[in-house]
Amino acid sequence: MRSALSAEHFHNEEAAFAYVEVRFWPDGPVCPKCGTVGRAGKLTGKTTRAGLWKCYVCRKPFTVRMGSVFESSHVPLRVWLQAIYLLCSSKKGISTRQIQRTFGCGLKTAWFLTHRVREAMKDLGVEPMGGEGGIVEIDETYIGTKKGAVVRRGYGHKNAVLSLVERRPAGAVVRSFHVEGHAAADLLPIIRAHVSSGSHIMTDEAGQYAHLNRYFTEHDFTSHAMGEYVRGIIHTNTVEGFYSVFKRGMKGIYQHCSEGHLHRYVAEFDFRYNTRVRLGVDDLARADLALVGAKGKRLTYQGTHRSRPAPLAN
Ligand SMILES: [Zn+2]
Repeated sequence: MRSALSAEHFHNEEAAFAYVEVRFWPDGPVCPKCGTVGRAGKLTGKTTRAGLWKCYVCRKPFTVRMGSVFESSHVPLRVWLQAIYLLCSSKKGISTRQIQRTFGCGLKTAWFLTHRVREAMKDLGVEPMGGEGGIVEIDETYIGTKKGAVVRRGYGHKNAVLSLVERRPAGAVVRSFHVEGHAAADLLPIIRAHVSSGSHIMTDEAGQYAHLNRYFTEHDFTSHAMGEYVRGIIHTNTVEGFYSVFKRGMKGIYQHCSEGHLHRYVAEFDFRYNTRVRLGVDDLARADLALVGAKGKRLTYQGTHRSRPAPLAN
């Protein structure tokens, strides 16, 4: 038996740097100070820290951590790689407490690690979904209670998440958003920004989707209230399948997710769905994709506490 976690880059700091460097710098080391590519020397020696390079042009030392989510963190790179692997290979996510116990680190460190990994997973894509002949399912779900909201009937006090799922022959892909509410005014701008107008839209009978045929080539819906869930190709079963994993994870693992961070959990579930085994991506390949996402993204401690970005700029 060979455990996936027995790989060298999870245990040896030099190997961890080499692993990340190959993926961040396919054309050779990139100096973050002057931008020069492939003209730097590796600094070696017993007292030199792992992964240190010196630029031949500006003479400044640098490592592959600079300019990525790994910058200004005291956590060894090999531990970062373990955290990425665990979050990528756990279908319903992994709690901050679990990371704290597994790594033997403080809660704050565990929390920061996992949120940075989620940031690396964030990849909404810019291409419109669907298009001519394309089918996009749209639905929303509700998670937790908004801070200070009075619990009433309906969903007004809950956090709303909107998901767009494009059916594709090889397997569907999803984009989800933490939205202000479930009124048409909250949803329509996002739907129109992310879905091509030539698409065939599938929803349930909810009123907020009533006028989608004005903006899209075709809009069909099933009437859940009438007990109708599937009528040929008309259904929202794909997006509901995504929600079943999302909700189990959010309820079972992330019980106390605050509103301000929900957009990152949403990104985490989207990422794993869009890189799932059915699409030909295994755990290791998925972790590599998240790792590449860590490049060029920085998240300061203060940044982590900012509320969610505007959905359109996500
Ligand atoms: Zn330089």
